[in-house]
Amino acid sequence: MRIALPLIITLVLATPAVAAAAQPPFTLFPVVGGAHYTDDFGDLRGSGTHQGNDLISPCGTPVVAVVPGTVRLDYGDRSGWMVTLTGKNSWYRYIHMGVKGDASSALAKGLNNDSTVKQGQVISYVGKTGDAASAPCHLHFELHYGTSVVSPFTWLQAATILQPDITDPAIMSASNSNVSLTITGTVVWMVSAGNGGRLFVRPSKIKASDGSAVKSIGIVVLRADLATLTTLQAGQKVVLVTAGAPLTSERLDLKPLTWSLATATLMG
Ligand SMILES: [Zn+2]
Repeated sequence: MRIALPLIITLVLATPAVAAAAQPPFTLFPVVGGAHYTDDFGDLRGSGTHQGNDLISPCGTPVVAVVPGTVRLDYGDRSGWMVTLTGKNSWYRYIHMGVKGDASSALAKGLNNDSTVKQGQVISYVGKTGDAASAPCHLHFELHYGTSVVSPFTWLQAATILQPDITDPAIMSASNSNVSLTITGTVVWMVSAGNGGRLFVRPSKIKASDGSAVKSIGIVVLRADLATLTTLQAGQKVVLVTAGAPLTSERLDLKPLTWSLATATLMG
């Protein structure tokens, strides 16, 4: 009978991946409004490998319970504020939450250790505590089954993204961390549409006000009001500043019409 033991252990270890493939561990995106992320699970980081995916979103953005369960708040030198969400079959770590020294910025109002939460309930807020102090604000999100940790990437991509409810004061405070872009480049084309104008610009330089790396792209299409468009001509060199907006993944990728022009300055 002794020989059966290693076999049983192997089966137990194999189960999480099989169960995960059959049934999604979660179907809700943890960050309200979405985030910019890549599959950075397993990347070399410092002394070990990265155990989750980093979801970049402005500090203060609410994060939600991806499954129903219970929450617990801890603080560690590397993790900063860490919220652990324990569900029925899986558990999750939400790392780098809130502001150092302020537990109320890391665990949503009304919650305590071992509080029961519903799926979609706001449990915490994006931050940069622990060893993320010099990184952009982000949620380090981990998916665990028992003692196994798994990349959450596939399920993040399929997950439903909750859109901000602007009547929620927590979301209003997150929108204080709006970012704007300064785009230096050449005007390519302008279009007046029924619902406002569009400005096509070929950028030579793009800077985000919070220092975030913005995707480099051939042509950027901005929303612009018609009065501003009439002051511009194709071929002009310009410096454009956009209106402030939360840094979503669409905006970081410079998807057309995700940014609105605030001011346009002609160069020399
Ligand atoms: Zn991370």
